[in-house]
Amino acid sequence: MQNIKFLDLQKQQKIIKKTLDKRMERVLNDSSFIMGPEVRELENRLRDFSKVKYAITCASGTDALMLAMMAMNIGAGDAVFCPSFTFPATAEAIAITGATPIFVDVGTKTFNICYKDLERNIENLENKKLNAKAVLAVDLFGLPANYSKLTKIAGRYNLKVISDAAQSYGGKYQNKAVGSLADITCTSFFPAKPLGCYGDGGAIFTDDELLKENTESLRAHGKGKTKYEIIKIGLNSRLDTIQAAILLSKLEVFEAETLEKNRLAEIYNSELSNHYQKPLILKNSKSSWAQYTLKSNKRDKITSFLKEQNIPTMIYYPVPMHKQPAYKKYLLKNSQLKNSEKLSSEVFSIPIHPYLSELQLEYIIENLNKVSKKF
Ligand SMILES: *Cc1c(COP(=O)(O)O)cnc(C)c1O
Repeated sequence: MQNIKFLDLQKQQKIIKKTLDKRMERVLNDSSFIMGPEVRELENRLRDFSKVKYAITCASGTDALMLAMMAMNIGAGDAVFCPSFTFPATAEAIAITGATPIFVDVGTKTFNICYKDLERNIENLENKKLNAKAVLAVDLFGLPANYSKLTKIAGRYNLKVISDAAQSYGGKYQNKAVGSLADITCTSFFPAKPLGCYGDGGAIFTDDELLKENTESLRAHGKGKTKYEIIKIGLNSRLDTIQAAILLSKLEVFEAETLEKNRLAEIYNSELSNHYQKPLILKNSKSSWAQYTLKSNKRDKITSFLKEQNIPTMIYYPVPMHKQPAYKKYLLKNSQLKNSEKLSSEVFSIPIHPYLSELQLEYIIENLNKVSKKF
């Protein structure tokens, strides 16, 4: 079988083309390329979609995380807890403010931050000079983290909960939408994310008016009431009007796409061999399936067999953050990051986009089941 794509943005573009062309033409004619009306329109749509008070767009998911840290006045002398098994931007956003990322292990089934290890790390920090400020949870591969446990622990130690929802937009936790699950939520519109634009983009969600005001100021150089009254040291981090128009077009198919990916995930989960540890599907939570990730201790043999059959796979992530040259200085002596290390050597992701055909799906399942008996 030919042409199984890991992600099929071309097919998606064909489907939204009419709306997209209309919206793009309007932006070009209007020529309000920065903070044009589509930006506000999108922010209102995102706010309503997530059932949250405020949605503020910005230039990338990484910036969203950085803006969230800055809006909460997190900086030198502060500690922020985050998982080690994640995309580099999570820890980067903490470190770049001068704060210290404290790496916490993840659960082997959810791939998300382990609340027991979080609590252990908070307790261990008490004799150090750092000021524990926040937990930055990641909704890895699209599955929301355990926010009810995390919120309880955060409350006990007076920490804020920040959500790195770069991979989970469109997902739900206890029937509540991603965006409304933490004190502040950050997402990314990088093209390959569940809701992606045609370049870089991101957004922040919060119910807190002060955080909203801080974020809006910080994304525009720290402006005050007027453009040239500067009350904070900020960034240039706005979402382009063109990207907002693209996202508005994509929102028209977004819910249907998320549903379709959930249908595919259920088929994978029931039909794939138990040789693989399959991702969790939780009752009151819904993943946005940024990735469908399997585990096998024969990963390399399996992925090279699949490659020969023209089935693309990816490895997210081959190295946990505490093993990265730039970040290993943050590794604490008493850390226990065994799950993060093991997962890095066993995980691999297979195609799960809404434009996979039934034939392609069957072909992928058949080959995965075939190869599971081989090694
Ligand atoms: C993609 C991603 C980011 C960064 O988003 P960008 O828009 O690429 O800057 C941050 N965290 C996680 C978990 C991601 O997957």
